[in-house]
This record gives sequence, structure tokens and C-alpha cells, in this order.
Amino acid sequence: MVERDCPPAPDGALPSAGATRRRLISVAATLLVLPVVPRLAQAATILAVRTWPADEYTRVTLELDSELKAEQFTLENPHRLVVDIEGLTLSAALNDLVSKVRPDDPYIQSLRVAQNRPNVVRLVFDLKQPVAPQVFTLKPVADYQYRLVLDLYPKVAQDPLIAILNKQSGPDVDDPLARILEDIQRNPVTRADPPEPPRVRGQQPAPALPTPPSPPATASRGKKRMLTIALDPGHGGEDPGAIGRSGLREKDVVLRIARRLKALIDSQPYMRAYLTRDDDYFVPLHVRVQKARRVHADLFVSIHADAWVKPSANGSSVFALSQRGATSAQARWMADKENAADLIGGVNLGTHDRQVAKVLLDLSTTAQINDSLKVGNAFLDEIKKINRLHKNSVEQAGFAVLKAPDIPSVLVETAFISNPQEEALLRSTSHQDKLAQAMMTGIQRYFTANPPLARLGDVS
Ligand SMILES: [Zn+2]
Repeated sequence: MVERDCPPAPDGALPSAGATRRRLISVAATLLVLPVVPRLAQAATILAVRTWPADEYTRVTLELDSELKAEQFTLENPHRLVVDIEGLTLSAALNDLVSKVRPDDPYIQSLRVAQNRPNVVRLVFDLKQPVAPQVFTLKPVADYQYRLVLDLYPKVAQDPLIAILNKQSGPDVDDPLARILEDIQRNPVTRADPPEPPRVRGQQPAPALPTPPSPPATASRGKKRMLTIALDPGHGGEDPGAIGRSGLREKDVVLRIARRLKALIDSQPYMRAYLTRDDDYFVPLHVRVQKARRVHADLFVSIHADAWVKPSANGSSVFALSQRGATSAQARWMADKENAADLIGGVNLGTHDRQVAKVLLDLSTTAQINDSLKVGNAFLDEIKKINRLHKNSVEQAGFAVLKAPDIPSVLVETAFISNPQEEALLRSTSHQDKLAQAMMTGIQRYFTANPPLARLGDVS
């Protein structure tokens, strides 16, 4: 049957065996392709739906087998967000999305799904408050296929300083934030209003974080200086980080360690801690840096857990930024892996926000790196008392999250989550406590040797 459809060979001779085989392959390929063609015109298949509700923003992710276009608009009275997705028909997976809206979601009251037109599905989010939505697509990366991402940000961006109001200094304490905090309390609306970023066609602007105000130029002598430590639990939301053999996720364990360390810091008389994320949602790397700058952090500590293909790899390590290449191949690999968090976690590349971040992060960080190495060494001295060290010295590479030009910044790989013994350690609350205590002591050692009064001049 196949042979009969073949055209005769140009010279009128019978086709050679090789030519016949090629035609058979070509026809077979056509036959294989044919049933697929009508399917391409049909709806895409939803592979998974996920929601990541958080105070900062709520993300809804649809994972699909192909890239889809979506358009959105908002309505008032009552507040609604309408998203039309082209190339989709109603399915059980979409109904599953409806059930994934949590009652405690700060933004979404409920969700309705309907076939609006042939091939167009309409999602209507009934909102608890007005939102500035961002809708964008992500190409396949890591374990994910195509993703359609709907981010629901508040119309007025939350100011990280609000989160820090829980611990204010007394009259005998010199606190660079005190004046700013007072100002916010006196005039909360104007203070929290974000600047209007330029609009990108087809999407709402990202609510930018308020610009960091300048701290007081000089510290009052004789007063104890209030210190602010930014703790940065790595990954979160769509980005689980590394996953151990028994299923422990880096994003979960580093948040637990960071919360323990925060409690220790907050119990000190002249220290307060600020978490760049305090829930299971994704924070882009440059936003973590911006948040730390906004609260005028005196130190930035990013907390992670390593993974390696060989389960035998073990030990803790501490990293600082490098402006001139990595100190080892492993450090470079580690920085590449951690910097990939933005791709996996899902950053909207269309926002103006990222250009601002790039300018900020290209500033000189020489003094910062010197301080970061001191902090890193203090950490290694303490951590080696509770775990093996993977490397005895602070390693350096181009970690995006360590690039605040004015804040000493270190990244701690607490242990190898890919090593079964260390995964068990990371899971245990007593070891989490030990890690938090080791970092607490490291922080105290650093500030004792490098008094904060001397540092204030660098910041202003
Ligand atoms: Zn990590």
C-alpha cells in the first residue's frame, strides 16, 4: 500500500532499496504526524495547578504542555480580576484550581471558571482587596513545563519597614531606623505609597518597593546602636530548592532555621531580625536584596542547604560575593545553581523593576566583601563546633543575592540535604537550634570585633 503511493524514480527504474526505505520512513512519519495535527488546534493540556497565597502577593500557576496567551482586566464594585486564557477548554484540572483557593488567601475570596468563547477559558477572581495583577508565561525549566503565572499584588506595595515595627528601640538606644519608623507611624499612607514605575505594554506595573531613605549621617555617641539583621531563607513557592532523598525540601528547612535564628536575635537587647520571606512563596533574588536595604540591615544572611549528585558529599560551607570570578569550580557551580532560583521560582522579566535592580547590583562591593569575609569566618568558627565543614575557608562567587553594595552579606549552606545523614540532621529540631545558635554566636562575634558605630559612616 505504501509502495503504490510512491512516485516512480526519476529515471523510470524501480526505486532502490535505500530510497524505498527512506520513503517508507517519510510516509510513516506523515502517518504519525497526521493524528497530531487536529490536536494542536485543540486545547492545551493542564498538567498541574498551584496557588501560593502570601501577604506580599498571591501567585496562581497553571502548568501546561504548551505556551498559552492570556489577557487580563480588573473590575470594581466588587473588586474582581478577569483572566481570559486562549487555547484552553474546561477540564477537571481547572476545577481543581477552584478548590485550591484557601480561605485565608489575603487576596482571593473565590474563583469562578467558565468557557467564555470556543477555545477561551475565563477565570474570574473575586477579590478581598484591589490588586495590581501581573500575568506572564515561563518557558520549561528544571522539572517544569510551560507555566502561565498570575501574580496578584496589592495596589499599594507593603513596606518591609512595617514588619520591623514590632521591635523598636528605647530612648537610650541609637537606632538609624527610629526616625523613619516614627515618620511612617505619623503618616502611614504617604510613606507607604510606592513610586509609579513605567508601564509595560500588556501588563500592570509591578508594585515597586519604596526607595530606601537615607539613614542619619552620624550616630549619637554613648548610646548603644540598634542592629538590624536581614535573614534570607532561600527559595520558596514554585522553587523548592534542593530535595533530600526522604523528601525534605530545602525551602522548608531553611525557613525553619531562619525563624529559630530570628527568635534568638530578637531576644537580644540591641538587635532585631527581619525575614525576607516568612512563608512558602517565591521572592526574586533582587527583591531580597532590596528588602534588606529598605530596612537598613547591618548584615544579610542567606540560609540554604546544599545538594550534590553523590550522596556522600557533606559538610557546611559559607560563601561571600566575588567580583572577580569564583574561588573554586565548586563555588562557581554553587552560585550558578543558587542564581537559577529566579528561573525556577519564576520572575516576570517584563518588569522595569529588574533594570533598577541591575543598576543597583553593579555598584562596587569591595568594602562589603571585606566585611562579608569577616562575618563568614566568624560563622565557620562556630559552625565547625556542630558539623563538619565542607571547606575550611569562606568561598567566593557571583551570588546575585549577596550583591547589596552596602550590607555585609553571606550565604550559608547549612549542610548537604542530599546526604542522608545530614538530611536527618537538618530535619531534627535540635540540630536546627544548634545551627541557629552557631550563627547567632557568629553574628555577635562579628559585631564585637567590628563595632557598629564605626560602620555607620560607611552606610551613609
Ligand atoms: Zn539553595
